[in-house]
Amino acid sequence: MNVDLYAALRARVKGEVLRDEPMARHTSLKVGGPADFFVVPADLDDLAALMALLVETGTPHLVVGGGYNLLVRDGGFRGVVISLAHFVAVERLDARRVRAGAGVKNRDFVQFILGEGLAGLEFLCCIPGTVGGGLAMNAGAHGGEILDRLEELAVIRNGEARTVRQDELDYGYRFLRLAPGEIIVAGTFSLEQGSPVEIGARIDAFRAHRVESQKIGYPNAGSFFKNPEGTPAWRLIDSAGLRGERIGGAQVSEVHANFLINRGGATAADFLALVKRIKDVVRLKTGMALEEEVRIVGER
Ligand SMILES: Cc1cc2nc3c(=O)[nH]c(=O)nc-3n(C[C@H](O)[C@H](O)[C@H](O)COP(=O)(O)OP(=O)(O)OC[C@H]3O[C@@H](n4cnc5c(N)ncnc54)[C@H](O)[C@@H]3O)c2cc1C
Repeated sequence: MNVDLYAALRARVKGEVLRDEPMARHTSLKVGGPADFFVVPADLDDLAALMALLVETGTPHLVVGGGYNLLVRDGGFRGVVISLAHFVAVERLDARRVRAGAGVKNRDFVQFILGEGLAGLEFLCCIPGTVGGGLAMNAGAHGGEILDRLEELAVIRNGEARTVRQDELDYGYRFLRLAPGEIIVAGTFSLEQGSPVEIGARIDAFRAHRVESQKIGYPNAGSFFKNPEGTPAWRLIDSAGLRGERIGGAQVSEVHANFLINRGGATAADFLALVKRIKDVVRLKTGMALEEEVRIVGER
């Protein structure tokens, strides 16, 4: 750990600065070694000051939202992990537009738009995480994807803030191309006015469907692999005979074959070994290549 960098972070950043913070505390898989530093900037100026320091010192960074789609290796992260947990402003801009900070939890965002009688992002109710993480992943469910409702993205890169229109973005299924080092700070969404009763009914139906289909019971990161064109990943894993497959504390869920679970005491290495086995066996038995949806980061 770099003691000078710690001193500089404490001097220049108003928000929280933690040292050697276990990433297992910040990911839903509950694995991952320490981040050298874990910083929670107080506001946009603070984030800009932090980014300027990171550029000056050539320090790598990683943004974490809710950590629901993140596997951090056991060696942790050499550099600064940034949480935008204080970027939680949500405001209605006009009849149909809403702006939400990157740190807003999806469930709070959905509550807000329901209260405003705005429709179009109800599916977010079932996706754990934050607006920033959702935008970075182009999160989606029930036929909707968050970037389809985006009007404008507010980003910061090397300390410089700018906005990008949705039609300027390169995005697709669980994918958004961000420039290296770019951080999403907020999104402006274009929604439709609707009946709160009907919006609420759709949210309730989505939630009920989730409770039925995803009684997983152990820490997980949702669907681990992207669905290849035409075939759900769970079916490939299942037909390769891997439902229930276990390495150390990491296991293919018996309930949903595209969910990998932490049965207790799993390491990131257990998950990585299981991921490799799944990819190898699925390729051998079905000829299909699986690609991770979960982002894998950090040191071995
Ligand atoms: C039970 C369960 C069910 C799930 N169901 C779904 C589903 O139906 N549909 C779906 O799409 N996903 C689903 N997921 C996966 C996950 O919830 C989504 O990917 C979610 O959008 C992740 O948000 P997060 O804030 O946790 O992001 P994180 O996991 O913290 O981060 C994900 C990626 O985004 C990057 N990132 C995060 N914030 C920012 C930012 N502000 N700027 C730049 N980059 C950023 C991170 O560096 C990382 O690469 C599920 C997960 C679980 C555990």
